[in-house]
Amino acid sequence: MAPLDPQPQTIVLRAARLLDGNGAEPLADAALVLHGETITAVGPAHTVPIPLGARVIDYGDKSIMPGLVSNHAHVGLVDGVDVGARFYTRANILRQLRQYEAYGVTTVTSLGLNGPLFRALREEMHAGATPGADLFGVESGVGTPCGAPPASMVPVGDDQLFRPDTPEEARTAVRAMAARGTDLVKVWLDDFRGTVPVKMPPAVYRAAIDEAHALGLRVAAHIHDREDARAITRAGADILAHGVRDVPVDAELVQWLAEHRVWYIPTLSLDETTFVFAERPEWTLEPFVERALAPAVRARIDDPQWRERTLGEPRSAFARSSLAMNLRNVKTLFDAGIPIGFGSDSGVTPLRLSGASEHRELGLLVDAGLTPLQAITTATKNAAALLGLTDRGVLAVGKKADLVVLDGDPSRTIANTKAIVAVWHRGRLASGRVETFESLSE
Ligand SMILES: [Zn+2]
Repeated sequence: MAPLDPQPQTIVLRAARLLDGNGAEPLADAALVLHGETITAVGPAHTVPIPLGARVIDYGDKSIMPGLVSNHAHVGLVDGVDVGARFYTRANILRQLRQYEAYGVTTVTSLGLNGPLFRALREEMHAGATPGADLFGVESGVGTPCGAPPASMVPVGDDQLFRPDTPEEARTAVRAMAARGTDLVKVWLDDFRGTVPVKMPPAVYRAAIDEAHALGLRVAAHIHDREDARAITRAGADILAHGVRDVPVDAELVQWLAEHRVWYIPTLSLDETTFVFAERPEWTLEPFVERALAPAVRARIDDPQWRERTLGEPRSAFARSSLAMNLRNVKTLFDAGIPIGFGSDSGVTPLRLSGASEHRELGLLVDAGLTPLQAITTATKNAAALLGLTDRGVLAVGKKADLVVLDGDPSRTIANTKAIVAVWHRGRLASGRVETFESLSE
């Protein structure tokens, strides 16, 4: 990739179609003017004046859409097939953020399990001087002693998670997170199909939520079951960080979520990764996915014994039924107007592939019954809104120039989001190629 001039300059991108993130049909023969980090004009090419001296890049028959925004991912937990506190390093996190960016995910929310390094890294990514996706998140989080998140699944350090015993300890934990500048608070309410002995007691999560709200922070809740979703949102949780996956949502829960404008992040691909790489359907063999596999991960999924054992495990059957219910519930909630956020919970286990999983999540949203345009709007405009970000998520004047150039039309076929030609982040070419039809306007 050719590095661009470091001075802010004016760049005009042209393409056969532009999806602006608002959900409208693509704009044909579009032009987008970028100055520095910002979009300064967008519209049909014949109506957009080309500024003098601008660098004009004509992407021909390609499509342009906004960079994806993840509301639920993790950084610094995994390296290859290993998970552990020792991976919460600057080098590993920056590697993952560059991978997200190369896959067109230009903003990532690391939703908990972050160590002390998080704050400085987040500020660094906000400043835009370091290559990689912009970073938001939950500084550590509020779990349960001997409970969720299971230490066996995410063996993080003591400085990456609070596990309060009492309501007062929960309030102390939330105050500590607030003091370190967390964007959101997270609590876990789950017994992981009975594999951990306790769930967080109501008095503890109520105290955590009350304290967060008193400090002006919103609370995201990890749940799996409907009754936990009901209990935690009645206690005031603002965001469900996963879909309801045990039984169908009922009218009472739908009404509560609607009235209280609770965000719902289904993370459909989470459960699928438990078994799908053992099944090895066609899409898992695509170069788009293969590129995201570390050698040790590839060796694992190429091992027939691992595949057979994985498919026979009870957790795979559980994940299958969870995914089926999750697909059903997200459609019900979408149709009811519940605000849907976007994320795949990538980065928390070796097969939740940073960047690639987000595109699988788009495909699953369409499998659930959303149109491709609705899925894309969820992952751009809506995901930015969940974070309270007004500077991105759509391609409009004044917004950040975070965008992806694609072969084909993703509004017709969602799989086309994987046909990435180039990623522009903050007005700069972050990865991919510039087409040859390039000229300076005179
Ligand atoms: Zn997560």
